Amino acid sequence: MLTRSYPRYLGRFAPSPTGPLHYGSLVTAVASYLQAKSQNGDWLIRIEDIDPPREQAGATNSILRTLHDYGFRSGSKPIFQKKQFKNYIYHAQRLIKLNHAYACECSRKDLALISSHGSMGAIYPGTCANKNLAPSPDFSIRARCRHSEIRFSDAVYGDQCTNLGKESGDFVILRRDYLPSYILAVSIDDANERYTEVVRGYDLLAITPRQIHLTKLLGRKPPNFMHIPIITNDQGEKLSKQTHAPALNKSHARIMLYNALIDLGQEPPKFLQWRSVMSIWDWAVMNWRPELIPAAPSIPYRL
Ligand code: GLU
Repeated sequence: MLTRSYPRYLGRFAPSPTGPLHYGSLVTAVASYLQAKSQNGDWLIRIEDIDPPREQAGATNSILRTLHDYGFRSGSKPIFQKKQFKNYIYHAQRLIKLNHAYACECSRKDLALISSHGSMGAIYPGTCANKNLAPSPDFSIRARCRHSEIRFSDAVYGDQCTNLGKESGDFVILRRDYLPSYILAVSIDDANERYTEVVRGYDLLAITPRQIHLTKLLGRKPPNFMHIPIITNDQGEKLSKQTHAPALNKSHARIMLYNALIDLGQEPPKFLQWRSVMSIWDWAVMNWRPELIPAAPSIPYRL
């Protein structure tokens, strides 16, 4: 009899070390962890440290300590994007050789003159697409997207369809001075690390078609995607370091985890908030129902 083997679930939480962990990132971490653990899968932490000017000293250690204090457990050591720099450049050069990407000399000033804007910002009109410029640190590198129509089904927000040619145009994968863009790094890492599903905030749903397209240009299979609502403050802004989201405190672990379950649409029994962190996790893994996650873009922070 033929048996088919399916890859074991592998998920990840990928914080940027721009500051300590806050409630908004906790909700994402909880959802990604429960998706993995409830399917008897593995869960990894990837520190997205490719943007040194935005990094805060000590943030990586603080994030890892808080995740541990809040009861998250990973069978593997954290992965650091910084160690992958050469790999990103290698893949960008490979994409140029395959004619899936090209060097672009347009300055910020040139780009500011672009008049058409789509759901992902200014639509690049392809000015340098056929110039065959030799790559140099003075130029950025763009991935071609022609008229690729990207369809995928998000586990929370349902069927998505984007025409990248119309909505974004060819997009930057390496910035000047060979600095990898987020979209290049995430596409390579998610493919190489072989995640079966990516769970992250709704704010990244709009860039997912680019990730899918780029992953295919790299010759790899894109993971599945689940986006979850972002948590917003009183002004309706996403909780983040820039909006001064308070750092998570170890002594609030139980109530914060309990609130995260509620915000994710789960229905934890009231008594759970007074139980140990590990009892909360035991209940959550056993009773996780992703179909209850609200398909709203955001949820207000209510503490
Ligand atoms: N590093 C991103 C953040 O902290 C998340 C990226 C991802 O999950 O793909 O918002």
